[in-house]
Amino acid sequence: MASASSPAGQSLRLERLSKRYGDYVAVDQIDLEIANGEFLTLLGPSGSGKTTTLMMIAGFTEPTSGAIWLGDQAINALPSYHRGFGMVFQNYALFPHMTAAENIAFPLRMRGIGKAEQARRVADALEMVRLPGLGDRHPNQLSGGQQQRVALARALVYNPPVLLMDEPLGALDKKLREEMQFEIMRIQRTLGITAIYVTHDQEEALVMSDRIAVMNLGRIEQIDTPARLYERPATRFVADFIGESNIIPLLGSGTPDDGRVASRIGALATPLDRKSGADVREYIIRPEKIRFVADDASLDNVFTGAITEIVYAGDATRYHIQLTDDFTLTAKRQNRAGQAEFQMGDRVAFGWHAEDGSLV
Ligand code: ADP
Ligand code: MG
Repeated sequence: MASASSPAGQSLRLERLSKRYGDYVAVDQIDLEIANGEFLTLLGPSGSGKTTTLMMIAGFTEPTSGAIWLGDQAINALPSYHRGFGMVFQNYALFPHMTAAENIAFPLRMRGIGKAEQARRVADALEMVRLPGLGDRHPNQLSGGQQQRVALARALVYNPPVLLMDEPLGALDKKLREEMQFEIMRIQRTLGITAIYVTHDQEEALVMSDRIAVMNLGRIEQIDTPARLYERPATRFVADFIGESNIIPLLGSGTPDDGRVASRIGALATPLDRKSGADVREYIIRPEKIRFVADDASLDNVFTGAITEIVYAGDATRYHIQLTDDFTLTAKRQNRAGQAEFQMGDRVAFGWHAEDGSLV
């Protein structure tokens, strides 16, 4: 925003935060630190505790136990209004009887800010979300994307220390959703505001976030950068939930012997920064990391199998390759001119580089 009063972000910390409903544990002792200016996403399937966590941060839901810190201040007892976090929720809609400008001015009015200052800040906010000139429209005269821009302007206009967003793009179609993802990222970076974003859409999380906390059954399975989560999933759940995975069961303990582990389909070369030990049970390899020997002769793990299914998807083709009676892997190959073509039933040599695998 062009305003002189740019919001300074603040760090946020959750400490063994839990929420129970009767016997049901919706959020189970989560620990999380969000740095000043960071964009952190809570990603997980429906019912994993994302909204409950965000509502506790916002001050709308009281934690059963644990603490929430804003900078060095414990804010558990601070009412929602005094936390003053910016919020964009799917069900936190615009006021239909107010214009866009009146909607954006609302939080300023509630804070007793004078008319002239209100008008100046609303104009700045409309500019920031790229809606200059549309302030006089009512929500029903705006598209879904424009309404979410107004909601974002309303959440940011009073310079909150933290911005909370719960599936804000869920109602938009794919193209518009992608456009708004970049708008939210641009604005968050411009303002340097600390942001917590909730989504069940792994692609959205990978694109937008500095770090992602993957939630499952009220717990955090892994907190990491998008690249680390994708390339080195820590658990089978993460490997399965983010992107596509081939999951190969290991035999016995997953303790590597000279950089190799025994698996259902034979010995597999493991990545160098592998974890190992009794609690390692599976080897993960992403379909796009599987390559054909015809394309790359330098692979570490090489197998042969028969192509049992070919699925053309425009940019890439997916091949199901049967190794044994009851074990099939999926390979995904970019479609490019000049490469070998495969037909159903072909026996092919394929494999992957050890560094592309993960142990979970
Ligand atoms: P998510 O946002 O990840 O879909 P939620 O945080 O909304 O998940 O819900 C987590 C779990 O807590 C769900 O199983 C949900 O049914 C339960 N839950 C949420 N709110 C309540 C409530 N007020 N009373 C009882 N159970 C609730
Ligand atoms: Mg939710």
